[in-house]
Amino acid sequence: MAYETQRLEIKKRIALIAHDSRKSDMIQWCTEHHGELCQHVLYGTGTTAKLIVEATKLPVQGLKSGPLGGDQQIGSKIVEGDVDFMIFFWDPLSLHPHDPDVKALLRIATLYNIPIATNISTADFLLNSLYMNKVYERKLINFDSYLNRKI
Ligand code: PGA
Repeated sequence: MAYETQRLEIKKRIALIAHDSRKSDMIQWCTEHHGELCQHVLYGTGTTAKLIVEATKLPVQGLKSGPLGGDQQIGSKIVEGDVDFMIFFWDPLSLHPHDPDVKALLRIATLYNIPIATNISTADFLLNSLYMNKVYERKLINFDSYLNRKI
């Protein structure tokens, strides 16, 4: 497969999303990592962002609530190259009305080679990665052969 790269600056653009049963985990994680997170640009789905801001005063830019299109907005930012990695504490024990959006977001994040943490320990490992404090060249699939395919 052919690749190109996207340069990720030291200041990363991080998307924060948590389903309702995982919001307390997200708030606790953000509180524990306030010092690191405040050095980056933070986005979040509506309710997650609001609760993190209230609890931690971190400047999280809130989008729409997830079930109202917020997951799709994060996906759109990934496609536009405006999100560098994602912390997405999704709930593996419940059904959600916006499950197709959740699946679409995980799909698009995977396609665009976005680091994704879906649980606390992966989020800890990501945030403690050496790449957090360095420029990183993220590999992106070159889609030319797909776009020029014979139909
Ligand atoms: P919320 O959305 O932060 O607005 O609750 C999260 C989600 O359920 O996707």
